[in-house]
Amino acid sequence: MNKKGILVVISGFSGAGKGTLMKELLRRYDKYALSISATTRRPREGEENGREYFFKTKEEFEQMIADGELIEYAQYVSNYYGTPKEYVYKCLEDGKDVILEIEIQGALKVKEKFPQTLLIFVTPPSAEELKRRLVGRGTETAQVIANRMNRAVEESAYMDQYDYLLVNDDLDAATVELHELIQSQHKKLSENLPFVGQIQKELEELQK
Ligand code: ADP
Ligand code: 5GP
Repeated sequence: MNKKGILVVISGFSGAGKGTLMKELLRRYDKYALSISATTRRPREGEENGREYFFKTKEEFEQMIADGELIEYAQYVSNYYGTPKEYVYKCLEDGKDVILEIEIQGALKVKEKFPQTLLIFVTPPSAEELKRRLVGRGTETAQVIANRMNRAVEESAYMDQYDYLLVNDDLDAATVELHELIQSQHKKLSENLPFVGQIQKELEELQK
């Protein structure tokens, strides 16, 4: 069976509950690694450099792009966000499933580079609930919330590019569903070609 980890992209409107869901997934199961992105946005209260993000200046970020250190990067509501290669590749080699919590442009670039990537789109049960969560989180100004709600309208046009839609209504149920979606990806035939070849050979041998 395939011993290497797989890449899983989680996208969704700002405030959908992606961060909350990731924390819960990692708390419950130990075979996942969460990629830590670089960003030029300011840390929110309680965020630490190297834990939620690597916080960079615009110049530092552009240097990372020039040095080829990123798997993908994108601009989201006037800031850069990108996925550093090194940690992701190491975790995949170690057999961990690596989760990239990134927005749509980045998600599609990763899928292009690594077609086996599982793309999951997280949404709250309704647009009203999205706004309630975004406002309730209390981390952004009214203007930033308005920008992010506008961005959600744009992003909703690309939801059909994803493999699965995950409705984050009850957190507990959504966490279990996410784990099951990732685990079933491991059983896909395309992930298990060496095993397929082996059992075909064995069947032929048996019939001789
Ligand atoms: P994202 O990472 O997608 O921007 P967050 O994880 O920060 O979203 O969640 C946004 C807000 O919604 C937070 O205040 C969080 O506590 C809340 N939240 C997340 N998931 C749920 C849920 N299933 N039910 C109710 N509130 C939730
Ligand atoms: P936030 O500022 O709320 O932490 O993140 C804003 C958006 O940027 C979210 O949609 C998040 O998924 C996305 N994002 C975070 N890291 C990356 C990354 O490395 N690459 C891309 N393309 N998007 C990212």
